[in-house]
Amino acid sequence: MISVEDARAYILKHFAPLESERVELLDALDRVLAEDVVSPINVPPHNNSAMDGYAVRAEDIVGASRANPVRLRVVADLGAGYVPDAEVTQATAIRIMTGAVIPPGADTVVRFEETSEAVDQKASGKGSGSVEILSAPERGANVRLAGEDIRKDQVILEKGAMLRASEIGLLASIGASQVAVHRRPRVAILATGDELVALDEPLTEGKIRNSNEYSNAAAVIKAGGIPIRLGIARDNIKDLTAKIRAGIDAGADLFITSAGVSVGDYDIVKDVLNSEGEMHFWQVNMKPGKPLAFGIVGKTPLLGLPGNPVSAIISFETFARPAILTMLGKTKFARPYVEAILQERAENNAGRRNYIRVHVSRNGNGEYTAATTGEQGSGILTSVTRANGLLEMPTDVLEYKRGERVRITMLDYPEEQ
Ligand code: AMP
Ligand code: MG
Repeated sequence: MISVEDARAYILKHFAPLESERVELLDALDRVLAEDVVSPINVPPHNNSAMDGYAVRAEDIVGASRANPVRLRVVADLGAGYVPDAEVTQATAIRIMTGAVIPPGADTVVRFEETSEAVDQKASGKGSGSVEILSAPERGANVRLAGEDIRKDQVILEKGAMLRASEIGLLASIGASQVAVHRRPRVAILATGDELVALDEPLTEGKIRNSNEYSNAAAVIKAGGIPIRLGIARDNIKDLTAKIRAGIDAGADLFITSAGVSVGDYDIVKDVLNSEGEMHFWQVNMKPGKPLAFGIVGKTPLLGLPGNPVSAIISFETFARPAILTMLGKTKFARPYVEAILQERAENNAGRRNYIRVHVSRNGNGEYTAATTGEQGSGILTSVTRANGLLEMPTDVLEYKRGERVRITMLDYPEEQ
């Protein structure tokens, strides 16, 4: 049976970054830049004040202190966003707000706290009058230089960059209202099974809810894709063929089916996939999630996920998520991991890669600890909802002892408090 690594490598050979599209800046969040972005401007565009205070000439305030204040005549008051219409000449100052352009002649800003304005509000030089300078910061103090963050013509973000909130802000700071990112993959999702009922239908005898459609669609959205929900195909050749063809016609970038690919089935799903497409393998050496189909239907790569809800989630995480991220243009998709102290013995007697659901937290010493989330059956969906991480046991590791330090792949990185 093919290993998890081989299956994933084989599957990923069928995916590449999708073509790029220009989108409004906010629609680019969590996506991958498809071009280098060059700044047309300096950021900041002009020398400006880092503090509320007085713009002065350093040479005028040499030696200033509380005991020995230097009095300057205040010739103007300058707010952020305005162009100075006055100049700082010998023994004068301009009252200046954070972000305002440094006026000609000035080279230094003295904070309000180091002037008579801090001592006595009425001594404010606002409007007219004078101010006493109570310290002598070095030349250039509290002045932000034009281009100190970004220089004109500088590449600020390279093709391949992940756009987080900070990158979106950076792009906004140079006026990029639209950017080129890789298109989001469209993922067709089809549930199969006579036992399934939709959420708005009555749950009659012998039936279960179609939960996989929702966990799969949610995982597609979370990974950055767009789900196309095809509903439920019944376990007969006619309905399955029609729904698989509908999936092909949807022109999706990935087709995900759920259930009907394990051994004990009536094998109708397998038969239809074999006749509608070209299937490459049906099983992977993992637990949960051994039944896993991969092939091409029409022109669309198809992942046949197992029906058991836990297996479906683990298989999605292992194979579908990397495929979606690859199409989004991402080259790294390993989840972060932590070293954690295992709170109980974990065993692996299946001869397969075992994925154990765990909950990671911190103990009083600040160390990560991992506890399994109880009954690990592949139908126990709450074993996943209680988990924030996965303990992967390789095929040749039969046991981890209680107290052993193990590596946990974090599905959600634990947030503290
Ligand atoms: P199968 O692979 O068709 O044998 O299905 C394996 C198990 O998964 C069975 O218990 C099914 O009832 C269950 N199952 C299949 N499809 C779904 C689904 N869409 N939502 C929840 N459970 C499902
Ligand atoms: Mg079935």
